[in-house]
Amino acid sequence: MTTRVWSYLHEYEQEKDDILSAVEQVFSSGQLVLGESVRGFEAEFAAYHGLPHCAGVDNGTNALKLGLQALGVGPGDEVITVSNTAAPTVVAIAGTGATPVFVDVREEDFLIDPGQVEAAVTPRTKALLPVHLYGQCVDMAPLRAVAERHGLAILEDCAQAHGARQHGKLAGTMGDAAAFSFYPTKVLGAYGDGGAVVTASADTDEAMRQLRYYGMAKVYYVVRSPGHNARLDEVQAEILRRKLRRLDAYIAARNAVARRYEEGLGDLTGPGGLLLPATNPGNTHVYYVYVVRHPLRDKIIEALKRHDIALNISYPWPVHTMSGFRHLGHREGDLPTTERLAREIFSLPMYPSLSRATQDRTIEALREVLAAL
Ligand SMILES: *Cc1c(COP(=O)(O)O)cnc(C)c1O
Repeated sequence: MTTRVWSYLHEYEQEKDDILSAVEQVFSSGQLVLGESVRGFEAEFAAYHGLPHCAGVDNGTNALKLGLQALGVGPGDEVITVSNTAAPTVVAIAGTGATPVFVDVREEDFLIDPGQVEAAVTPRTKALLPVHLYGQCVDMAPLRAVAERHGLAILEDCAQAHGARQHGKLAGTMGDAAAFSFYPTKVLGAYGDGGAVVTASADTDEAMRQLRYYGMAKVYYVVRSPGHNARLDEVQAEILRRKLRRLDAYIAARNAVARRYEEGLGDLTGPGGLLLPATNPGNTHVYYVYVVRHPLRDKIIEALKRHDIALNISYPWPVHTMSGFRHLGHREGDLPTTERLAREIFSLPMYPSLSRATQDRTIEALREVLAAL
């Protein structure tokens, strides 16, 4: 299976010299694995978050999986998360041997409903895995209260929320540890795969470093507990280092695209019709995906095909209904809001270098289709 990711090509045109010089720097450094660039990126990504620790890994899924393991999650444990997420969130939980437990999301922001979390806690619950989906943070204060009451760890899934803030705090600084993906389309994207776990805890960071390196304590090259080979690639780290300096500019550009959608479509919104993404009070949004909602979604998508507009659905199938998770015993209707959203949401083109012309074409086409419904 191949996945075409073309949105980076515009950016590559603009940043080519910098990206190629990053590759050249690593190739001529004599250190192709866990060298200066991984160390540098880890230090700078930790500093961006005002945290002391960051461990680079090979992708976001392993950031989540090793992050959970570093927090002590393993077979027999339960981890509470959402079904309205990218499947890798749940694949990572399953990869630790723990059982994913799903909580429904809120109508207004598509994020975990903190009010439903406590009812899902059992004696086996070990951790909460909130997903800052689409680019804004989950309401963290009530989750932290539940975690404290029940002695649970919190791992934030920040794969879609680089640089997002809640009451001034960055995504990734509000739990015990946070997992990031640097898949090329993400708000901070590599030119291939990459991931990282940031944390304030020296113990969690040490556990991460062992887990990504076969389970070895590096000083003695002795396996403490069999781990993985899940290192962040040196070339990707150097590219990420350079792109990190532009992260805030990417976020500003994504926000400008979002404002233009609001200007171009705002007058068409209303209950039972088109809904544009809302930003919760106290949050800043980084718009990883620009998710809109309409009860006649499938009809709209069909009509837009004639206009050659690239639309996505993030995500068309809730994870709890996927055949790979059938053993969890869920039935349709278990998570009504998640299931309804999967039928009604779609996303408009969103990336920092999206041209005005493409965006105008999208807005015009959507206006035309909605008027003809
Ligand atoms: C992209 C993504 C992941 C997985 O990251 P990879 O780098 O592709 O492994 C996990 N969780 C969420 C919410 C994501 O969007």
